[in-house]
Amino acid sequence: MAEKERKDGYSTIRVPQEFATEIDKLIGKHGFTSRAEIVKEAVRQFLQKYDPHLSMINHNNNGVKIRDIKLNQVADIQITPKGIYCPVCDASNCEHIRFTLMQSDIINIIKKREKKTEI
Ligand SMILES: [Zn+2]
Repeated sequence: MAEKERKDGYSTIRVPQEFATEIDKLIGKHGFTSRAEIVKEAVRQFLQKYDPHLSMINHNNNGVKIRDIKLNQVADIQITPKGIYCPVCDASNCEHIRFTLMQSDIINIIKKREKKTEI
């Protein structure tokens, strides 16, 4: 893979044509609309696996504590019926939240809660 730095916050990475062909097959599936989205998701999962700087400390019905050793902080992710929120990033979509939503325990809690609100 060759890489070129750009000043707009993006880097151009070249992949073999056979990868591009396989990536293109996923466009329009699983909510992906572009090559860039698919590659971003793939790399994000890869980095999480090989650079696990986030870990779940504990969780209760109102939220999840995620330790971030890069920031040396604990993100107190709040899960409410209105949505999910990270006070460290002041955001509802950040790496702490994406990490939170990858934990099977948390997915189960959210699913249970959604069932309760349906009743
Ligand atoms: Zn965050």
